[in-house]
Amino acid sequence: MAQEKWLPGTECMAKFNFVGATADDLSFKKGEIVFITKATKDPNWYQARNERGQVGMIPANYVQKREGVKRNIMPWFHGKISREKAEELLQPCSDGLFLVRESTNFPGDYTLCVGWMGHVEHYHVLYRNNKLTIDEERYFENLTKLVEHYEEDSDGLCTRLQVALAKKGELNYSINSDAFVQSGWAINRKDIHVGDLIGKGNFGDVRKGYYLGRKVAIKQLKDDSKAAQTFLAEASVMTKLKHPNLVQLLGVALPSGGSPILIVLEFLEKGNLVDYLRSRGRTVIKQPELLKFACDVASAMAYLEAQNIVHRDLAARNVLVSEMDVAKVADFGLSKEVTVTQQGIKFPIKWTAPEALRKNAFSVQSDVWSFGILIWELYSFGKLPYPKLNLTVVVEHIEKGYRMTAPESCPDSIYKIMQQCWDIEPRNRPTFDYILRQLKSMK
Ligand code: ADP
Ligand code: MG
Repeated sequence: MAQEKWLPGTECMAKFNFVGATADDLSFKKGEIVFITKATKDPNWYQARNERGQVGMIPANYVQKREGVKRNIMPWFHGKISREKAEELLQPCSDGLFLVRESTNFPGDYTLCVGWMGHVEHYHVLYRNNKLTIDEERYFENLTKLVEHYEEDSDGLCTRLQVALAKKGELNYSINSDAFVQSGWAINRKDIHVGDLIGKGNFGDVRKGYYLGRKVAIKQLKDDSKAAQTFLAEASVMTKLKHPNLVQLLGVALPSGGSPILIVLEFLEKGNLVDYLRSRGRTVIKQPELLKFACDVASAMAYLEAQNIVHRDLAARNVLVSEMDVAKVADFGLSKEVTVTQQGIKFPIKWTAPEALRKNAFSVQSDVWSFGILIWELYSFGKLPYPKLNLTVVVEHIEKGYRMTAPESCPDSIYKIMQQCWDIEPRNRPTFDYILRQLKSMK
């Protein structure tokens, strides 16, 4: 098989240990990352650099190119629609015409709806131990694998699945854990040393630890969570992103023998931005530092905007601070490029744009709204937004035109950006690219 030629900058993961025979070779351990710096005349050898900056020759067949993890499109997945709506959509209902919806009676489970002899059969797809099953005999990692199986064989259903009824509008995706192996992101669990708890989140714990001797943060999915797909989605979005102000994914340890999925991330020494601001306060942190943080976040968001990725949970608690005081955006758990169903996730009301709360209309513009809240948090040194407002009335107040006032000693130019971000009309809000240029001009 002729191998594709790798360009300089290509990121590769070592599949095996390599012990160089000469001083020109670059030795590495399995699981280590190297970057191609130059091709050679021999297609089997490249010049490469490791993460410590050492350069040398490497054998191509000892490493694997890293790529963005591929997703499976699920045109037949219609999300949260009722039983009646599903039956209506499946008319005229030919044998084997099908769709999948979220179960209304069992949140987190699904329903497979199949046309048969002029009516619709509804099969309950149960979620058991992070797997999906209809008959409790065969288990599948995700809906795509389940559908593929019943497309091949009716296996107890009234009929084989034959024609997918495609959803109109925005489609959904699933992710196979094998895809992480194929694209060079799967790492070995035994190379990960899991340490102390540093945070608690929606899907489980965040712990400190080591990966191949490097200090890392490890996200672990709760055992009872139905969110394995959302968790993999978070990791798969991160495989496509690289920016100095985004928390970098290092790899994913896939579930095996009862142990859960682990997402391994670069470790940010100074923790999240809210705690950072609250613990230091205005006596320690000065205006130029606040502006620098705002620029860091805007820079990451401008990068996401350019790739059409919507974060959906932008807030100071999801920004982390490095040893060198660089702010990096984290927590892609809800990010939108991968629309798998997100069961039971409550949106952070005080950060979410009104149109997103009301109509589920998340967009780059709704992230811009959240960014306005984030810089309000920044300039108020970690205060909770709308301190006097109860969650239940926030949206109503906003729709009547209420907005937060400027935090104490916040520059007018910054408050003006907040107000622009909080325009009720999403398309009137500035772009991140514009915000970034504005912020840079204030430096
Ligand atoms: P969740 O999806 O569970 O909200 P987050 O990514 O927001 O997960 O992480 C929760 C908390 O864990 C953060 O607020 C932060 O305190 C800590 N944390 C997460 N990732 C890191 C990291 N890479 N380095 C240091 N601390 C982290
Ligand atoms: Mg979070």
